[in-house]
Amino acid sequence: MSPPIAITPPAELETTSELTAQGIEHSLSRSAPSLLKTQPNGRTLSDTVTNGAINGSNISNGIATPPQELDASLLQFTKNTSPRPVPAAGSPEEASHKVCTDHMIQAKWTVQQGWEAPTLQPYGPLSLMPTASCLHYATECFEGMKLYRGYDGKLRLFRPKLNCERMLMSTGRIALPSFPPTELLKLIVKLCAKDGPKWLPKSKPGSFLYIRPTMIGSDSALGVQRPKEALLFVILTCFPRMDISESGMRLLASKDDMVRAWPGGFGYAKVGANYGPSLVAQGEARAQGYHQILWLFGDECTVTEAGASNFFVVWRTREGVLQLVTAPLGDKIILDGITRRSVLELARKRLAPGYEDLEAVEVVERKFSMFEIEDAVNEERMVEAFAVGTAFFVSPVGHIHFRGRDLTVPMKETTSGAYTKVVKEWLTGIMWGTEQHEWGHIVEEEE
Ligand SMILES: *Cc1c(COP(=O)(O)O)cnc(C)c1O
Repeated sequence: MSPPIAITPPAELETTSELTAQGIEHSLSRSAPSLLKTQPNGRTLSDTVTNGAINGSNISNGIATPPQELDASLLQFTKNTSPRPVPAAGSPEEASHKVCTDHMIQAKWTVQQGWEAPTLQPYGPLSLMPTASCLHYATECFEGMKLYRGYDGKLRLFRPKLNCERMLMSTGRIALPSFPPTELLKLIVKLCAKDGPKWLPKSKPGSFLYIRPTMIGSDSALGVQRPKEALLFVILTCFPRMDISESGMRLLASKDDMVRAWPGGFGYAKVGANYGPSLVAQGEARAQGYHQILWLFGDECTVTEAGASNFFVVWRTREGVLQLVTAPLGDKIILDGITRRSVLELARKRLAPGYEDLEAVEVVERKFSMFEIEDAVNEERMVEAFAVGTAFFVSPVGHIHFRGRDLTVPMKETTSGAYTKVVKEWLTGIMWGTEQHEWGHIVEEEE
């Protein structure tokens, strides 16, 4: 009797060492050696043959062709001849998260050929075999970014290079192929330049579209193994504003029987496998009137993240020091959010010395627990709390429910704390171009 397909042993030089950092580097060296060495052309022939043999690259007449690198300059454009109308601001259509713009980016990869020429083509369904790797083994990762229509009439991305680099890190974690992040950025910019002018008209400053770069394992083989085919795509979606301010976010602390991420896992990567399993807890939170889960970890009830956003508190220590605190990245159980990073950088520069009539804060990345938050609330040392991420932007937190108690977090300015407010104003200025800043990446429009 032949063994079931799903447990077919790996046929080639595949090993199961990929889950370590070394493994990831090794996999990079196989799928895109140019990322580890500076130039594909800089490799010696023997290098190429060795890599080619492992990769199964084209070898004809003894000459190996290295797999093609992702190359945005090869982009092929097919115009959408039946474009759709832009939904009205505030319409149910806009809020549905279903409406995408007229075009999308696609690029196919195979282990033998590398990356095919990417396409800018009409938005539409993908074609996948039911055996596709992503449908069975969660070989999927993504990014979340926004395209902003500035008050100065310009289109901008916010620190997009960081998203492209994080996407590469995520693909490495789940055995998807590597690519030069700068090429992905060029493709994203092309799509934004094409669809931005119509979907974010100059008459609507302060608006944005959500950008979703995605990569999936598209192999049409059910064997449990590294994908030999993959598909990269980028779509632009209409998205309602999701930052909550009125009475602040209500968070439900996760219970002991559910954890989002663990040391040695993949909580630090933006892989789909982190999100599906969190939806049960999130659904329960919503049903009980909370916005998000505040994910805790371990017996110490260490505070990690709030839903798909990073979490900050401002509190005064018992010694009287005012601190802005967020969880550290070292354990690799939280996502290295670009908004988180930006808040830390701005706070260190602008808040640490004290700003206008705001007292100076010490900016701290350290492990902290729900018990410390509880103590700070009880002892009236809690100043404010907020969650940050591309989707929720900067959202003040008003309540945290932990083990049967509702903890109230102060919001001095009635709709948010003073630090939350100033951080949000700074980021708003940079994203929508009221402050000219190097983090704002201007997109030249094609019309
Ligand atoms: C995307 C995401 C964030 C926020 O990251 P940004 O880069 O700021 O958008 C935080 N936590 C998780 C789990 C996420 O998926």
